[in-house]
Amino acid sequence: MLPNVEARTLQLGRELFTRIKVKKSKSGGWWNSKLIDMSMKDEALKIQLFRFVDVLPALRDSKQVARHMDEYFNAPGHQFPGIMSWGMSLGASLAGLSSLTASLGAGAVRKSVEEMARTFISGTTPADAIKAVSAFRKKHLAATLDQLGEAVVSEVEAEAYFQKYLALLDAMILEAPLWPADSLIDSDSRGAIPRINLSIKLSSLYSQLDPLDAKGSRNGIAGRLEHLLDRAMAAGAFVNIDMEDYRLKDLTLGIFMEVAGSPKYRAYRHLGIVLQAYLKESLSDLKTLANWAKHRGTPVTVRLVKGAYWDYESIHAQQHGWPIPVFAKKSETDANFEACSLLLLQSYPHLEAAFGSHNVRSIAAALAQSESLKLPKNAIEIQGLYGMADPLKEALAEMGWRMRVYMPFGELLPGMAYLVRRLLENTANESFLRQGFVENVSEEKLLENPAPDVNLSARVSGMAPAVQDISKPAPGPRRFQNEPETAFLTIKERAEFSAALDGVRKQFGRHWPLMIGNKEEKGEAGEIMSLNPSRLSEVVGIVAKASVAQAGRAIEAAKKSFPAWRDLGVKARAEILRKAAAIMRKRKFELCAWEVFEAGKPWREADGDVAEAIDFLEYYALHAERIMAPSVRSQVPGEVNENFYQPRGVAAVISPWNFPLAILTGMASAALVCGNTVIIKPPEPTPIIGALLMNILREAGVPDGVANFLPGSGREVGAHLVTHPDVNLIAFTGSRGVGLWINSEAAQTRAGQQGVKKVICEMGGKNAIIVDEDADLDEAVLGVMQSAFGYAGQKCSACSRAIVVGSAYEPFLRRLQEAVGSIKVAAADDPGCRVPPVIDSHAQKTIQEYIEIGRKEAPLAFSGELGALKAQGSFVAPTIFKDVPPHARIAQEEIFGPVLCVMKAADFSAALHVALDVPFALTGGIFSRSPANIARARAEFRVGNLYINRGTTGAKVDRQPFGGFKMSGIGSKAGGSDYLLQFLEPRTITENTLRRGFAPPVEESGE
Ligand SMILES: Cc1cc2nc3c(=O)[nH]c(=O)nc-3n(C[C@H](O)[C@H](O)[C@H](O)COP(=O)(O)OP(=O)(O)OC[C@H]3O[C@@H](n4cnc5c(N)ncnc54)[C@H](O)[C@@H]3O)c2cc1C
Repeated sequence: MLPNVEARTLQLGRELFTRIKVKKSKSGGWWNSKLIDMSMKDEALKIQLFRFVDVLPALRDSKQVARHMDEYFNAPGHQFPGIMSWGMSLGASLAGLSSLTASLGAGAVRKSVEEMARTFISGTTPADAIKAVSAFRKKHLAATLDQLGEAVVSEVEAEAYFQKYLALLDAMILEAPLWPADSLIDSDSRGAIPRINLSIKLSSLYSQLDPLDAKGSRNGIAGRLEHLLDRAMAAGAFVNIDMEDYRLKDLTLGIFMEVAGSPKYRAYRHLGIVLQAYLKESLSDLKTLANWAKHRGTPVTVRLVKGAYWDYESIHAQQHGWPIPVFAKKSETDANFEACSLLLLQSYPHLEAAFGSHNVRSIAAALAQSESLKLPKNAIEIQGLYGMADPLKEALAEMGWRMRVYMPFGELLPGMAYLVRRLLENTANESFLRQGFVENVSEEKLLENPAPDVNLSARVSGMAPAVQDISKPAPGPRRFQNEPETAFLTIKERAEFSAALDGVRKQFGRHWPLMIGNKEEKGEAGEIMSLNPSRLSEVVGIVAKASVAQAGRAIEAAKKSFPAWRDLGVKARAEILRKAAAIMRKRKFELCAWEVFEAGKPWREADGDVAEAIDFLEYYALHAERIMAPSVRSQVPGEVNENFYQPRGVAAVISPWNFPLAILTGMASAALVCGNTVIIKPPEPTPIIGALLMNILREAGVPDGVANFLPGSGREVGAHLVTHPDVNLIAFTGSRGVGLWINSEAAQTRAGQQGVKKVICEMGGKNAIIVDEDADLDEAVLGVMQSAFGYAGQKCSACSRAIVVGSAYEPFLRRLQEAVGSIKVAAADDPGCRVPPVIDSHAQKTIQEYIEIGRKEAPLAFSGELGALKAQGSFVAPTIFKDVPPHARIAQEEIFGPVLCVMKAADFSAALHVALDVPFALTGGIFSRSPANIARARAEFRVGNLYINRGTTGAKVDRQPFGGFKMSGIGSKAGGSDYLLQFLEPRTITENTLRRGFAPPVEESGE
């Protein structure tokens, strides 16, 4: 920053502080509230408090409030006696004293939180909000109105939100002309500006916004957005597009520029967009916007803020293994805000500047910059949030700056997410408001230049580095990290995926041989036509079909190559797996494309499957090295014990089509890295993906005969492998029927058989998600929908029963029906596809038969429309049955399709009982905000993988080892630390080292 700008920043900052002090002593302010006060003193209490605030609106009566109070603040590990004084006599209610006492206490708590919410939310109805605008105008403060309603899960909700905005606009059109004129807030450097100013979030106008489907998102939102803009334009109102999480950033900017740049709106000046300075990309986004605005010819406004989702962005990126998009240091965010403000002001008149901040330093810097650039005073605007830093707003208005208040209004329930964001922001250690207004940090400190060594002009012009990337993990010892899934946020990623689809399309109809020993062979039993389930007329490829005789030869080849492979050593084998992983990573989108066409996997699902295959290779490589290192121990003198593992021999790998690469790779690579040789029998619907794996294994260095590829009929070739005396191990994932058959056949001993066969068998599920009475329905609806209908329900982890507790039933069911009615059933290669076809006509028929059974057992709650898709591919419409009796066939048998049973339970105990009353125990889920019910589910909801407050699909290698029990499988969890042990036999060698009375000293290794 130039020295005179810095000096002027400090001067303006001091002046603001002087004015604020006078006002602060007169006003109370939110930080005086008991709630905020308590939460700032104790981090653990803060978490419990904010979680409690979040659940409170969902609690229907005083008993529920009292119970939750007890669970949040009076449970072991979470005891906060101080909370008792917070508005209610908790002890009385819990000791079972009169319900009147309890309801009085609960009422006081509700009141306390509502008061807090009212600090940040300007009212419930448009009339409340308009009244508040009018009151602010009297203080020479302008306003922008935000209708709360962030989590829109369906088009019905998006439409309702849209209608609310129209109604707001109508109400304001009537009121605004009545307000007395105020030249400070009704005009800028170019003349009059709108009195009506709205802030909207795009995700509330269209429920299916998705960066992966940028075009579909634009088309989907166009109707409502343009209608709103037309009405606003006719009324001369300002419309600002707010910025949400990073996932939607490029999409939001893209839609804004496309719409605002279109002929209809090109000449309209009163449009604005938000940029978040905590994002590392914000400076370059601002440059893009500035260039675009220059071409547009009419200015737009940019509201520069720091950003409201910092914690979420940091956590979300880490969970997915993505680069963290926000700065890691507060001072970097502050410095970037100043760099962006300089560029924004330099971009005048193409961009008009609004600064949304409560930080005196940040605001003073922007004001000083604008003075040094000699911009008219009324060319810029400062904006602040309703209920925050009111003395600062008034001080700025007094100094003659145009100040606008961002005023959210609406019901408390949709307002909770906003309230919790504000509470988090205000109580954060690094918050300017907390430091300035609560902790009384000195003015000098608060006004300090956040980046004294950085030349802002150079940074803005690109001469100095924009960002110091401090989020890269430090290099450390080799450890497993999940392969990140593709975020599909960039045009480049989407274009590359499309190109891969085109590339694979060109290879349709190719012939794929089988592989025995070192030889490719034609199928003696004919050919398998691999069809595209999205368009059954398309032949993806023609694959050789093995005969029983070929199966015999494959077993022979595997047996012959076993000793050398066994003796190669685990390190060499692990390196081959790592090479295979590297090949897959390089060919990721191509492999995905094959899955899209052969398995009908939508883009994201295919990408996830390939990422999981890479994970299996790398995880098992690392793990095998660990567990196969011999452990030599001398527990007592004169004796050495060596414990180690050896491979079992020939393994038959029989895999399912629903995770065509991941499961096949997982089972085959586990067997291989342990030193077994394998015969890969791919599933009949997805043999090409099996062939691709075979080729990758060979390219990575798997020797001849160690892996053999044997596509063919399960009944013939599969059965031959299972029963053959030379097959030592069978790794199977698939249906319960086939799994049980394999288990019983493998138990028979046949002539020539040298040992007992080992069976690793993962079977199906009939998984339930319990939706508790206090669940966050925004999350529960999306979680159940994704778990039930993602990949058309064809996952063994899929949710097929939603068991809803008490009064949550009706609202949950209604919202779920509306949400499912909003998602797109489409061909898997369509980026907008949410429900693809089922795998083939046979599966389609079976599922349709179950739907017919369901019609006789329970009322149909939802059945989607297929239209032209019906004739095109093996599609089944998403189907929901309601009030399903727990013992109906559709509630007990695995359907493996897009069919969901919704069931009602009187209370949580009943829900648990229904959830467990099936022969399977694979996955389960619970959406609840009751700590006690969550604890009960942990203890009693006995399934292989239990998910709390999230969907039941998408287990990650190492993080969520996957597999179940009861009729869901025998064997240890895939992707977990004990999985490989199943592919091995343990051995121990003991040597007596005592000779003539002496022994070497005791030495230990391993473990
Ligand atoms: C009128 C108005 C409209 C707004 N609209 C939007 C919007 O559309 N979208 C949106 O996201 N936000 C929006 N905001 C919210 C705004 O982002 C927050 O209120 C703001 O971040 C608070 O910043 P500050 O300058 O007042 O406070 P400060 O306390 O100076 O700064 C807080 C900022 O620093 C960041 N921070 C905290 N710790 C760190 C760290 N360790 N490393 C890096 N950064 C850190 C925080 O995430 C936050 O962004 C709006 C704010 C206003 C006033």
